[in-house]
Amino acid sequence: MHLPLAAPVSDAKVLTGVQRPMTGIALLFAEITTRDGHQGIGFGYAKRAGGPGQYAHAREIAPAVVGQDPSDIGRLWDRLVWAGASVGRSGLAIQAVAALDIALWDLKARRAGLPLAKLLGAFRDSVRCYNTSGGFLHTPVGEVLDNATASLERGLGGIKIKVGQPDGAADLERVAAVRSRVGDAVPLMVDANQQWDRPTALRLGRALEGFGLTWIEEPLDAYDHEGHAALAAALDTPVATGEMLAGAAEHAALIEARACDIVQPDAPRVGGITPFLKVAALADHRHLQLAPHFAMEIHLHLAAAYPREPWVEHFEWLEPLFNERTEIRDGRMHLSARPGLGITLSPQARAWTRETCLIESPD
Ligand SMILES: [Mg+2]
Repeated sequence: MHLPLAAPVSDAKVLTGVQRPMTGIALLFAEITTRDGHQGIGFGYAKRAGGPGQYAHAREIAPAVVGQDPSDIGRLWDRLVWAGASVGRSGLAIQAVAALDIALWDLKARRAGLPLAKLLGAFRDSVRCYNTSGGFLHTPVGEVLDNATASLERGLGGIKIKVGQPDGAADLERVAAVRSRVGDAVPLMVDANQQWDRPTALRLGRALEGFGLTWIEEPLDAYDHEGHAALAAALDTPVATGEMLAGAAEHAALIEARACDIVQPDAPRVGGITPFLKVAALADHRHLQLAPHFAMEIHLHLAAAYPREPWVEHFEWLEPLFNERTEIRDGRMHLSARPGLGITLSPQARAWTRETCLIESPD
């Protein structure tokens, strides 16, 4: 499925010339139906390239779970990975597994008549949330300020803006403008999308200390664990990263390297909810905070089930795909009583669907 965005979106990767503005998102949906009529829905996604590849891989491996007991999610996750073992346990291959794994968890929670967070074991009924979509770098600073005000009026708790422009002074000006608009009490985060080198990250990280930021996100290359660890040790401001990592093993390396204060796994990117829970267990064991990346429809449930007070990232981009809306008030996103993930595909989602396939049990 191809979801068009209202306007092309640019972060630091575009301003530094490594990527083109993003105009849409490819989504891979998995819908699983059991013989007795129970259903589950899951999804993964790709920004810019990769959507057709995820779809092709999912279609090849899906027969591995047809005819199996959908309650045995761990075993089925293994079967899906083994079906495509030749192409590895990360990247696009694991992201194709994710859509199916998430559908199995949705199915299990729906059968139990419970919201997914309750099936997993929730620590809270609502999670602190912050807006990201209003603070991209293609947006003039005046609009960023108005977006921040609108987000807070809508009930969101924090504001994140993009940094990492070629001119660091321009980043500092935007941060100063937003801090001045929202006041000192509102949690404010910045996201450099991996565009700083180590010296720049340290210099700008120090320059940002006075703004009382809740975190600095992806200051360095996503796989520079050593650099992140040194930066996290040098700064008072917490360092957050992890959204680009594909698989629980990659997150384990990040966590074991003491690379960040706040871990940002993304269930569709790590291979689904099954590996996400392993990442969360490791992060909790190391006393780290959790702020999952994107896909709030899934991550609200997973964050609600994390022991330490987490954050959920608010994007309205996927809203047209679903019939339901997430309740946001008092700075928090609230779980609904709907079972499973609590989402169903909208007519618009069906209209944007480019290709489907049906894989049935032979017996
Ligand atoms: Mg980010």
